[in-house]
Amino acid sequence: MQKYNDHQLKIYNSLSGEKEIFKPVHVGNVGMYVCGPTVYSNVHLGNVRTFMSFDMIFRYLLHLEYKVRYVRNITDVGHIVDDVDDGEDKIAKKARVEQLEPMEIVQRYTVDFHDVLKQFNFLPPSIEPTATGHIIEQIEIVRQIIERGFGYEKNGSVYFDVVKFNENNHYGKLSGRNIDDMLSNTRDTDGQSDKKNAQDFALWKRAEPEHIMRWPSPWGIGFPGWHLECTAMSTKYLGETFDIHGGGMDLKFPHHECEIAQNEACTGHSPVNYWMHANMLTLNGKKMSKSTGNNILPIEIYNGGSPFLSKAYSPNVARFFMMQAHYRSILDFTNDGILAAEKGFNRLMEGLDVLKTLQASSCSTLDIASWQKNCYDAMDDDFNTPILIANLFEGIKFVNLLNDGKETLIVADLNILSDTLNAFIFDVIGIKNEKASADTSGKLEGVVEMLIGMRNEARANKNFALSDQIRDQLSELGIQLKDGKDGTTFSV
Ligand code: AMP
Ligand code: ZN
Repeated sequence: MQKYNDHQLKIYNSLSGEKEIFKPVHVGNVGMYVCGPTVYSNVHLGNVRTFMSFDMIFRYLLHLEYKVRYVRNITDVGHIVDDVDDGEDKIAKKARVEQLEPMEIVQRYTVDFHDVLKQFNFLPPSIEPTATGHIIEQIEIVRQIIERGFGYEKNGSVYFDVVKFNENNHYGKLSGRNIDDMLSNTRDTDGQSDKKNAQDFALWKRAEPEHIMRWPSPWGIGFPGWHLECTAMSTKYLGETFDIHGGGMDLKFPHHECEIAQNEACTGHSPVNYWMHANMLTLNGKKMSKSTGNNILPIEIYNGGSPFLSKAYSPNVARFFMMQAHYRSILDFTNDGILAAEKGFNRLMEGLDVLKTLQASSCSTLDIASWQKNCYDAMDDDFNTPILIANLFEGIKFVNLLNDGKETLIVADLNILSDTLNAFIFDVIGIKNEKASADTSGKLEGVVEMLIGMRNEARANKNFALSDQIRDQLSELGIQLKDGKDGTTFSV
């Protein structure tokens, strides 16, 4: 029986504004789509926070033994500067400025994104599709929207008719905006005249001769609008209706509002059962932004090379810092804040070291089952990591009391304490178990020393075939033996 059967997971649904009991479309399976990065520049720590929130959610769903298909896309075309339909494509602009192929820009920043996520111990998603890899699917959706009367073509571009859609649907239901307010807030440039209504958004844009990213379509040479890719890729891999769609809070409007409209125009129903939005990371109380210089790059965390930091911090500490806030709360990044997180993190790790040395007793004087329930209740309540972490510190307090002989636990309870602490800290919060990797390298050392001993014995017995075999096979594995005056040493 899978763990999720014993849990009543509640998720805050941005669409209803309420916490709802999570019921997946297919029992035991979860389909989750998260809007990925636009790969035209290095991700900043704010971006990392949003993806980390969903990494934690993915991890907890896996921990509950759901079978999860997690799709997180790469936006490599169509994201227009300032979200103005007649602005320039962010990737095309960067390619022009740097005199590179757009795909060189895409490759460079996709590699950077993956490097950063690896540093922060992210789990890879199940599928990581790209917008340029799904042009055919996007064209098909545009075709369907036109066929159902919600899209129109003008001068080689296709727009979504927001006013027509809003007659029988509610455009603005996710963001809480109404269509008249949108009118006064709509910024647009010379393309305005092509649209029937200022609120309409581009599904497909005609490519001007100088535009380097271009594909043939029934409406001429062009490129897809930004919102379209997520509709195409989410439904392709997760179905017409799927469980969770996530992204940063700032994507609610226009991006996710437009996604809902596109889906409803095609299928007549809502695509997503639970909309989830992660809140922003600010820096010293101000919005993190590249243009104002008020930002930190992930690399500056671990090399300490930011004027906002007094020293370097490990990615584990930065992860722990972020997990101390609820994913729906704004989190302000300060040097004092991460310094305090480092102290807490070290206390947690020291507690785990002590835990390994504890001995069981003949009776339990602590209620470990209730403590474990509190940990799960926190996570079942819309992934409340700050409450979980408070409970983990309670667990570490138990460890210290046990170590001081002030409390005792029977072996079964000691195992629950140990398994629960380890599972939540490493599997769910996603702290990289640096000790475990160090332990493994210690084991490697032991094994190689053992083989060196066997090789020495073979040589003493003049069994040179065996001694050479040991040396050669280790070499094939990248482990070089070096014979010297004081014996044999090795390097990996
Ligand atoms: P982008 O590459 O601009 O599409 O952004 C990637 C993701 O990062 C989106 O989900 C954004 O909502 C999110 N994001 C952007 N800025 C911040 C920030 N300061 N804090 C948290 N998330 C952010
Ligand atoms: Zn998206």
